[in-house]
Amino acid sequence: MKLPFEIKDIRDFSYITSRKLKNDKGEKRGEVFIWRRRGEEEFNCKLKCPYCEEEQEFSVVFNRRPYRVRCSNCGKSILVEKLAAK
Ligand SMILES: [Zn+2]
Repeated sequence: MKLPFEIKDIRDFSYITSRKLKNDKGEKRGEVFIWRRRGEEEFNCKLKCPYCEEEQEFSVVFNRRPYRVRCSNCGKSILVEKLAAK
C-alpha cells in the first residue's frame, strides 16, 4: 500500500505514521497510514484491514491515545500502537 500523496515537506504535517497491522493469528496482513496536516484538526487515515483486507480511506478525530480506528467493512477495532522509543 502506498500513501495517496507525495510528501514534499515533512513540516507540512503535524503527525504522520505508518504501521503494519497483525490479525488474530499474528500475521501481518494489514497496514495503516495516519497523517494530519498542520493546522487541521482531523486526521486522515488509509487503512488496509488486517482481518478482512479491505482497503479504505477516511478522516477521523482522535480524542485520546492510544489511537484506534474501526474497519468500516468488518467492524473490527484496530489499535494503532505507538512507536517504540528509540
Ligand atoms: Zn475489516
